[in-house]
Order: sequence, then C-alpha cells, then structure tokens
Amino acid sequence: MSILDIRVLGDPVLRKPTKRVTEVTDELRKLIADMFETMYAAEGIGLAAPQVGRTERLAIVDVDGARFVLINPEVLESDGSIVWEEGCLSVVDFSAEVKRAAHVLVRAFTPDEREIRIEAEGLLAVALQHEIDHLDGKLFIDYLSTLKRRAAMTKWEKAKAEYPGFIRKVRAEVKGEHHHANETEM
Ligand code: ZN
Repeated sequence: MSILDIRVLGDPVLRKPTKRVTEVTDELRKLIADMFETMYAAEGIGLAAPQVGRTERLAIVDVDGARFVLINPEVLESDGSIVWEEGCLSVVDFSAEVKRAAHVLVRAFTPDEREIRIEAEGLLAVALQHEIDHLDGKLFIDYLSTLKRRAAMTKWEKAKAEYPGFIRKVRAEVKGEHHHANETEM
C-alpha cells in the first residue's frame, strides 16, 4: 500500500463529475487500499477518488468504525436537516457549518460487486453526503454564504503557495505521535 497525494482546492479534478465504475479490477482494489491508507494517515473520516486525482465514482468513509467502500453511490432518500461543522482534506485549515439532510438512505456497490444500502444519521449521514458531493464535483464551501466563502478564499490565497501543483503531501503516521484534528475532515 502507499500513501497518495491529496489534491487541494484549485485542482480542476475536484470539480469534474466522476465516471461510474463498470468493473472492479485489481488496479481499483489497490486504489481502494491506498485511499484507506491515505485517509488514516491524514486523520480523515472520508475520502473520495477526485481527492487523490482520480475520476472513478468511488469513495470511502470510516466514521467511528462504520467503514464503507462506496462504489457508484447514490442518495436514494433523504429527510430532516442537521448542521455540522465540516472540514475537508482538500480544503486545508478551514471548517464551517453546513446544513445537510439529517437522515439518508444510500445505495452503493462493494468491491465484491454486492449492492448495499446504508441508512445513516448524524456524522455518518454528513460524511456520506460530503463524499457523494465530491463525486459530483461539489465541495462543502459551495454551501456557504458569499461572504463566508470569500473569507475562506482569501485565507486560501495566502496559504496555497505551500501546495505547489495543488498537491498536499501526507506523511505516514509516526508511531507514538498522537494529535487529534479539531475538525471533521473528509
Ligand atoms: Zn472533502
């Protein structure tokens, strides 16, 4: 397995709609394993293929041990509303409250091509919606008011020089070193 580079705001791949997966190949299985390694190293709870520069309709989540590989995921039903402070591995050092559906029913396929349905609420529901948005070229900052989004972009204009080529290098976790992210990055 290897840790992949994470693409950050400004990389056009984050804005491209993804292509449905038609076959789960060995190459795709390796990508999934690498995505998990990358997500854990970056201390995220979700990661979508465009965030590692890929165009497959594929994402992963791990919310408190609820671990899913989502191939061709779709939201079938949603209701209620919930506000959560979200962060994104591709939007560095920025978090904001976003309003989403409180409950969702998501259909996806597993790597062994079984269809699954996930009923979720709370953070898992938020993470599923955040990841499926990534697969449609959408980012959580798109939901913010113009003023808030402008503040985020101003902050980003200053920070982006640290990410040449819109690439964020993720370091392997160092054993014994433990830091907790304040935000929920996905
Ligand atoms: Zn994200």
